[in-house]
Amino acid sequence: MQINEALIRSVVQQVLSEVARGGAHVGGGPKFAGRNGIFTCVNEAVAAARDAHEQLLERTRDERNKVIGHIRRISIEQCVELGTMEMNETKVGRLHHKIEKLKTLGEKTPGVEFLKSEVFSGDKGLAVIEHAPFGVIGAITPVTHSLPTITGNAVSMIAAGNSVVVNPHPSGKKVAAEGVRRFNEAIYKDLGIDNLICVITEPTLETANQLFAHRNINLICVTGGPAVGRAALRSGKRAVVAGPGNPPVVVDETADLDNAARCIILGGAYDNNLLCIAEKEVFVVASVFDKMMDAMERAGATRLNAREVDEFTKKAIIQVGEGEHKHDGPSKEFLGQDAKVLARAIGKSIPEKSDMLFGETDESNPFVSVEQMMPFLPFVRVKNVDEAIQKAQHYEHGFRHTSMIHSHNVRNMSNMGRILDTTLFVKNGPCMASLGLGGEGYLSFSIAGPTGEGVTTPLTFTRERRCSLVDDLWILGKPHARELNK
Ligand code: NAD
Repeated sequence: MQINEALIRSVVQQVLSEVARGGAHVGGGPKFAGRNGIFTCVNEAVAAARDAHEQLLERTRDERNKVIGHIRRISIEQCVELGTMEMNETKVGRLHHKIEKLKTLGEKTPGVEFLKSEVFSGDKGLAVIEHAPFGVIGAITPVTHSLPTITGNAVSMIAAGNSVVVNPHPSGKKVAAEGVRRFNEAIYKDLGIDNLICVITEPTLETANQLFAHRNINLICVTGGPAVGRAALRSGKRAVVAGPGNPPVVVDETADLDNAARCIILGGAYDNNLLCIAEKEVFVVASVFDKMMDAMERAGATRLNAREVDEFTKKAIIQVGEGEHKHDGPSKEFLGQDAKVLARAIGKSIPEKSDMLFGETDESNPFVSVEQMMPFLPFVRVKNVDEAIQKAQHYEHGFRHTSMIHSHNVRNMSNMGRILDTTLFVKNGPCMASLGLGGEGYLSFSIAGPTGEGVTTPLTFTRERRCSLVDDLWILGKPHARELNK
């Protein structure tokens, strides 16, 4: 039998600290060990995560890296099985993208290497600024990427030394629980710490609110639409809010239209338009509008005529909300469904390879203002680039999330960048280039626009601490005269 030294050391440490505390399960350590992060009760989950965080603090950064290594390895090696589980449970998006998202997050989410200290040195000595963990983080995750968001959050949060309790979307709760169980099991087996990632297996709005209000939750991180963002900000705790978007695309007369079409399809059809950063509406200057529509067809998208657009809009955009909060929203029947399912709703059959529907609309079509999360994109004809940018700003709704331009005119790029003021701004690429996929940079599936942290990293989940040494260890220059005269 193989003896796991780290596991034994951890259990001995837990028992000793329990004895020192008079045997009470103050932190919930041994009491919850072996649960692999699976909880129905928020209080228990928070107690277990608190204990796990305390244990993590006793470990080296190298061991933290090993913890993250298990999350990465499972996300990559088991992406097919877990991605299939996610697809079967949520029933939105596309299977090969579900698989790819898990693999990509496992590979590319920033880890402990992001934790750098800053130093101020001078006549008065040395000040070192370190990035310390918050403690236990309460996270809310969306149905559009249930386990991928947990994977990315867990890597970044644990890299920074935290533990996390997740209240997943109810429609993605099973894959969330299974992924979390596998992550914890591997971490516990290798390093003897259980429950670094806890999940509420029967998540409700009530459990979300319990998490928000819990005195042992030090920070909140929510990824989702407007309601959860507002709820997090009302909680009275510091919140990192990754909110909704409605990313517009501008195409001007200098654009490479074939590249623009390929990029719009790649980003806008990815996982059937579920990405919050995905292309959602397109404004094209009139002089190249018809050519752009041809380019979309050449690139494989299927064009709907005006009658088809009208018919589909009536089916796919419905009234959601109650009373004065009633507004247009995507119909669940079509949300995250394949282009061929959308087309079938209006009696149209499309080539198997065609991933996206598109058509000319005017700006009053609800597909322009609604975050549709389905692979139909409205194309609006505008007289010039200034009008395109102005409408893009209007229909982005001030989320300041993501925007795209296809252009070779740098002044147009600059103007759009300044006017839209979005967290992510892509030129001549698909939306995912902004997350280092086909562009430079790094990845996270929690992009915190409303609270300003941007693409979250381990540093997002830290608090600054400063350590000052007075009069010493600034080692530049000659020894001070007073020292030499001693
Ligand atoms: P959603 O807002 O319906 O749900 C998100 C999560 O919040 C779920 O776990 C849900 O149960 C919870 N929730 C909803 N209302 C709540 C409330 N009042 N109090 C507490 N919890 C609440 O969103 P969704 O359909 O799961 O995901 C799609 C949305 O998420 C889109 O708007 C998309 O743009 C956004 N999103 C943003 C990012 C980002 O990084 N900014 C990433 C992914 C998704």
